[in-house]
Amino acid sequence: MERIAIYPGSFDPVTNGHLDILERGLKLFDKIILAILTNPKKNFLFTLEQRIEMLEDSIKEFSNVKIDTFDGLTVDFAAQRKAQGILRGLRAMSDFEYEFQMALMNRRLNREVQTVFLMTGLRWIYTSSSIIKEAAQFGGNIKGMVPPIVEKKIKEKYAQRT
Ligand code: ADP
Repeated sequence: MERIAIYPGSFDPVTNGHLDILERGLKLFDKIILAILTNPKKNFLFTLEQRIEMLEDSIKEFSNVKIDTFDGLTVDFAAQRKAQGILRGLRAMSDFEYEFQMALMNRRLNREVQTVFLMTGLRWIYTSSSIIKEAAQFGGNIKGMVPPIVEKKIKEKYAQRT
């Protein structure tokens, strides 16, 4: 049986922390579907197309990773894609409360799908899309924290805004 996981997130934008979890997940799953949240109520910096473009460029080397988009319940999307797992990354303790709540709710909604948490590499423990955006907004150097395409696009984005 093919082991499939969905890896849901906003990826606004993708960071090296996201990719660290993806690579670790590929040791457990045969296929991982990056499931980009399209929820229009969230205030994204990048459009869906831009988030997809940056992800596509960042995962070129992996043949068993696919990109897809979804809205609505994560467990429904997992079932649709015949995934047994929902992959999530854990950083510092601050992630725990929220992730715990979500995982328990998702389990209640669908007992067939298991949430799998992987611990991020130590170097990414404080990396998040939002902190990167905050630093980049004021000209901070984010090299080495995000894939090269993200570094470029984020610079362009903030240059347009000023
Ligand atoms: P969401 O809005 O659903 O939290 P994100 O794109 O912020 O979407 O995150 C998607 C997943 O990636 C989450 O499980 C999050 O904990 C994980 N993640 C984000 N940054 C890192 C990181 N630096 N190390 C490990 N996991 C991370």
